[in-house]
Amino acid sequence: MKKCLIIPVLIMLLCFGCSTTKGNVYNVSLYKSVAPEEGITYVVGHINPDTDTVSTAIAYAKLRTALGFDTVAVIPGKLNKESKFVLDYFKVETPELLEDATGKNIILVDHADFQQAVPGMENANIIEILDHHQPAGLSFEENLIYRSAPIGATATMLYYEFKQNHVSIDRKTAGLLAAAIMSDTNNLKKERTTDADRAALEALCKKAGIQKPKKFYKAMKVARNSFDGLTDEEILLINYKEFEFSGHIVGIASVDNPDDDTLWEFVDRMDKALAAYLPKTDAEHIFMKLDVDWDELGEDSTVLLCCGKGAEEVAKKSFPDGQIENNHLVCTPKLNRTNDVVPALKDTYEGMAK
Ligand code: MN
Ligand code: MN
Repeated sequence: MKKCLIIPVLIMLLCFGCSTTKGNVYNVSLYKSVAPEEGITYVVGHINPDTDTVSTAIAYAKLRTALGFDTVAVIPGKLNKESKFVLDYFKVETPELLEDATGKNIILVDHADFQQAVPGMENANIIEILDHHQPAGLSFEENLIYRSAPIGATATMLYYEFKQNHVSIDRKTAGLLAAAIMSDTNNLKKERTTDADRAALEALCKKAGIQKPKKFYKAMKVARNSFDGLTDEEILLINYKEFEFSGHIVGIASVDNPDDDTLWEFVDRMDKALAAYLPKTDAEHIFMKLDVDWDELGEDSTVLLCCGKGAEEVAKKSFPDGQIENNHLVCTPKLNRTNDVVPALKDTYEGMAK
């Protein structure tokens, strides 16, 4: 990262509360006061792109084009399954891939650090950043427009950008932004969700013709978590780690349940996958932390699958508050592998050793 020469202009604007007044004079004059950069500007989100990153790049390129700036949306990598579903749903073409940002005019959306940026970003002409993450101690050689807000999604900021610049949002773009807010906030369930996100999502759903946001979010989730094309063993190994606890080698897999409606069928499949995999590894026990992000039925939970002689006893001892459902241990709220599962199992194995 380059040494700090000039501190970037921090424009923490976003006066969401003043949206009843006629537009935001400040914001319009901001664009008018900044001379347009020479040549094309590329709007790009972070690597391993998610729906917020992709949708806001597309939407921001639209807005800037409407305002007379030569702007193109690009993606920093292959679309994930959820984003692909969203773009297909609204019949939006996938933007071109940007592999190297060197020498290009760039607007960063949904991130503000080089670790998450497309290669070559240190040598790009970054003219603007629009983000909702914690500032990451960036420094730039040139002055730039930097806006950040502690809200649920960059897409929410985009919604207000359109409004403040008196540019109407077309149906497809509204759909992309609505999907991005749902994706980043788990359909307004995440802690960092604000009233601004709620208001933006409601308005965007209306514009996009999303009449049943819950149903749409569910379809996004199913697309995101679909394991199409993977064998059961591959699903088990997507996020699998082995640990040693007091001489016991223990495998812990972490998987998101693909679809609420078919949870127990999926559990049954994964039980079989664990049993088939156990003899292939040195692990004595394998656990699978299967996270269930319920749409309707209250708090999110984890079903803890166990495999190997004595594994179930270890699980029950480790999570005494868990409930037994369909012969499986269900823990609510859902468990985190690093913060909950590993320390609890470690304690139990240590206790057994004594
Ligand atoms: Mn993101
Ligand atoms: Mn985001």
